[in-house]
Amino acid sequence: MENKVKIYDPLGDGISSIQLIQSCGNDKMIVNTARISYANDNYENKFFDEKDRKLLKYLLKNSHLTPFEHNLVTFRIKAPLYVIQEILRHRIGVSINQESHRYVEPGKQHTVIEDSLGNKIPIEIMRKYYVPLEFRIQDEKNKQSSFGKLTEEKNILARERYIKSCDSSFDSYEELISMGICREQARGVLPHSTYSSLYKTVNIRSGLHFLGLRNKENAQWEIRRYAEIEKLILSELFPETFNVLEEIEKEREL
Ligand SMILES: Cc1cc2nc3c(=O)[nH]c(=O)nc-3n(C[C@H](O)[C@H](O)[C@H](O)COP(=O)(O)OP(=O)(O)OC[C@H]3O[C@@H](n4cnc5c(N)ncnc54)[C@H](O)[C@@H]3O)c2cc1C
Repeated sequence: MENKVKIYDPLGDGISSIQLIQSCGNDKMIVNTARISYANDNYENKFFDEKDRKLLKYLLKNSHLTPFEHNLVTFRIKAPLYVIQEILRHRIGVSINQESHRYVEPGKQHTVIEDSLGNKIPIEIMRKYYVPLEFRIQDEKNKQSSFGKLTEEKNILARERYIKSCDSSFDSYEELISMGICREQARGVLPHSTYSSLYKTVNIRSGLHFLGLRNKENAQWEIRRYAEIEKLILSELFPETFNVLEEIEKEREL
């Protein structure tokens, strides 16, 4: 059977992406590691039962969180540099390796077309930077926030202006590269919206911490789209943890 990895497009532009690369560990492992405190871990039993659920809830409610570190989940993410900058702020329980624009030129995506004689011709098909489909309005009260959207007419104008500026930056970049300027300096003219890729490995403890900060109303819309998909993937890998968290959340609201 074909085992295709699902690739999500969080920003909906056909370029952004996030996918699960690998994972290890599960809900049962969390409670088993917690039970070592009493030397009664039963690691051979794979079945998650009601007692496990109660223990999981106890651990989460009492912030006994080290048992949530004995697992790992690796994501491959393609995001604009300004989203990556926010991802990189998460230091604990997070391992990251990122595409280096000292090694590779960003903004190029190649394909090969065939002419009528069957000659294969490589062409650059698109530039790799993020263009928001809908621009938002600056929030004056919360200075780092935004809201709503522009009229369709204004949105089109904003997109045109934005694309013009990014294209001009990429033109300058390519000109500098063709002059023989090194990539590590030429990249200085690239826009924040330039795409870059990274591998991010987390454990469910650090994953939940990330979601607590970035899957929230006050986080920027763009990083929230990535956080929502991370939540989806993590909740499939650790369903009991997410069920219990939801239960705790509901109890708090009462
Ligand atoms: C809505 C929002 C707005 C933000 N705005 C800004 C901004 O304007 N400017 C800005 O610079 N950043 C900003 N940030 C980033 C923020 O300050 C954090 O760097 C980021 O959210 C990572 O959180 P963290 O430090 O808890 O995560 P991690 O680095 O993963 O740390 C996890 C936890 O480990 C502990 N820890 C880590 N390091 C230390 C330490 N040195 N000492 C003690 N305990 C430690 C803390 O308990 C911490 O919560 C913003 C974040 C959000 C969500």
